[in-house]
Amino acid sequence: MSDYLVKAIDKTKNLRLLTISAKDVVSEAQKRHDTWSASSAVLGRTMLGSLLLSGALLKNDSELTVRLLGNGPVGATIVTTTSDLKVKGYIQNPHIALPPKADGHINVGKAVGQGWLQVTKDMGLKEPYTGQVPIVSGEIAEDFTYYLAKSEQIPSAVGLSVFVNPNNTIGAAGGFMLQALPGASDELLSKVEKKIKELPHLSTLMLDGVTPEELAKKILGEDCKILDKEPVAFECDCSKEKYAEILATLKPKQLKEMIEEDHGAELTCQFCEDKYHYSEDELKEILKKQKED
Ligand code: ZN
Repeated sequence: MSDYLVKAIDKTKNLRLLTISAKDVVSEAQKRHDTWSASSAVLGRTMLGSLLLSGALLKNDSELTVRLLGNGPVGATIVTTTSDLKVKGYIQNPHIALPPKADGHINVGKAVGQGWLQVTKDMGLKEPYTGQVPIVSGEIAEDFTYYLAKSEQIPSAVGLSVFVNPNNTIGAAGGFMLQALPGASDELLSKVEKKIKELPHLSTLMLDGVTPEELAKKILGEDCKILDKEPVAFECDCSKEKYAEILATLKPKQLKEMIEEDHGAELTCQFCEDKYHYSEDELKEILKKQKED
């Protein structure tokens, strides 16, 4: 298992930490959407943050959708994760690469721009709940931190990193989400925050092959307790049947055009780029069912 999330707690039981390594997940998204460096970093960091948030907040059979709606060149980014840590993602403009920042890192903030970070939690009951905060830096980790503070009232520290190789493949991807539990003292918090600042850059650690367990120990100390280890994976829940249901919502005129003029239809899933083809006969079947309903 190379991609997984770990949950840990510090010795005093006042700090909860989630760490993740997900190079394969981000690589899968990179390949499927053919993302360039800035788009890879935005989509990858949003996927990592969403997985960590799911690990922190979700209970059984629920899901969470994060929408990063900035005015920067990458456009909208939408990521959905489930309580069993499956993730799928969409980015409006996959082909964005920007000059690096002075420190050599990808200019993620510029790629995202200003706007809103929305988090919708669908717990399978009543209406889904959506919380929204303004994008503070567009670097995404800070934006998740701000969301946790404002919308969930959880003081936290978040780090997210995606390293993109010069040939656009993903070199490393990982991160952490630290949460202060109600009993955490300011002293304990500043101690661990200082520790985080003193660590090498997250992408350096991930490129060195640091595991989620090791990252947890670096942040919380060797005496922390690892509570849980769960696999994470890129997985889209789309299917030919699901898209047939969407076709069935079209006006009969549109379906007839597809049959008579295009002699079929092909739909591409925005989250995974899988393509579904519908023959003339299959479209006629959808049209026939529409009339029966
Ligand atoms: Zn799909």
